[in-house]
Amino acid sequence: MASNAQLKLLTDFLNIPDVKVTHFKQDPSLGIILSISSLNSEVTCPHCGQKSHKLHHNYSHLIKDLPMHGQNVYLQVNKRQMKCEKCLTTFSEPLEFCEPKRNYTKRLADDILSQVKHSNIKSVAERTGVSESEIETMLKDLRKSLVGQKPQDLKRLGIDEISLRKGQGNYCAVLVDLDNSQLLALVPDRTQSAIKKVLMSWGIDVLSGIEEVSIDLWRPYKSLVEKLMPNGSVVADRFHVMHQVQEELDNSRKQAKKEVNNMKDSEKKTAKIQAITHGKYVLLANSDNLTEAQKRKLEEINKEFPKLQKMHGLKEQLREIFENDINWFDGLLDLAEWLKKSADLFPKSQGTIRRWLVEITAYFEQRTTNGIVEGINQKIKLVKRCGFGFRNIDNFELRCLLAFQD
Ligand SMILES: [Zn+2]
Repeated sequence: MASNAQLKLLTDFLNIPDVKVTHFKQDPSLGIILSISSLNSEVTCPHCGQKSHKLHHNYSHLIKDLPMHGQNVYLQVNKRQMKCEKCLTTFSEPLEFCEPKRNYTKRLADDILSQVKHSNIKSVAERTGVSESEIETMLKDLRKSLVGQKPQDLKRLGIDEISLRKGQGNYCAVLVDLDNSQLLALVPDRTQSAIKKVLMSWGIDVLSGIEEVSIDLWRPYKSLVEKLMPNGSVVADRFHVMHQVQEELDNSRKQAKKEVNNMKDSEKKTAKIQAITHGKYVLLANSDNLTEAQKRKLEEINKEFPKLQKMHGLKEQLREIFENDINWFDGLLDLAEWLKKSADLFPKSQGTIRRWLVEITAYFEQRTTNGIVEGINQKIKLVKRCGFGFRNIDNFELRCLLAFQD
């Protein structure tokens, strides 16, 4: 029999508000069993709000809690059933520390879920003694609270896509709150209708609160914004614009390499081949990030390939236009100037930029980009790499959302 002082100590140690430990037992096979009871003699009637002390019935109920000193802890709860003196209904006392119909405390579920974040269900189950099916239930409860959640104060939305399998397609669309870098949804199927379904589930209040939507250069996304978000203006993500320009530059590099390979053997050919081999990175990378050796490599390419030199220069100019702190109008003028200069060298990008001119220049208003999606993408890939053995995309989305919980 534990002394009052010991029970007081255990109560402090347990640290659940308005609860005291009344008994303590250590069972060799189960672990520690703490009998607890509520300090509140009154319970508010959920039907009429009347405070009631009239006990109708007592229930014993076993609830699993966080382990203590490596031992499992069970709380034996006296769950009271009360009878309301006013409206005469009977009701059970709600337990603050436990969700209704669950046999574990909220804090145990939180702890388990944070372990699941970094590990798989099976090993968490083995480590903690909580069964796999209980963990599945915890995940399901979490899913209800996370996936069904509507975005709060969403002003700037990013729609982008990520590839889960390198080089094999398997794209997912991600919806992101750009102001707080929060993943809002992962849509397995990046079709317009799949994304539309998610957006619609947020309801008109959320959708009409959205002011800007950053998208890649894909028309179906644009038409979704136009259809569903009455106050949302479309911003074309500058990184996708740059990506297209880089791609065109890279195609020219490949072409140049091919031409050089077809040249007759000569000193000139040797010099050119040497210059262009392993030239992709230095041409495509942001020039500010190049090392001294890489800069020399770039100079070598520039010397041998005047066309690539010009294209590289234009690519860097476009990047600077996006990076310079200029207003909308100057941004537009700079872009127009760039289009004029690059007409012959970047015919494909020209077409894209002209078609998306309104959305691309919208960037100069608030400098909204999908830049943070890259970081989110890394995090999602990490979730995937951890080999959680997700069998379906719902579970995977849940794990991703979980990874973004603090
Ligand atoms: Zn009542």
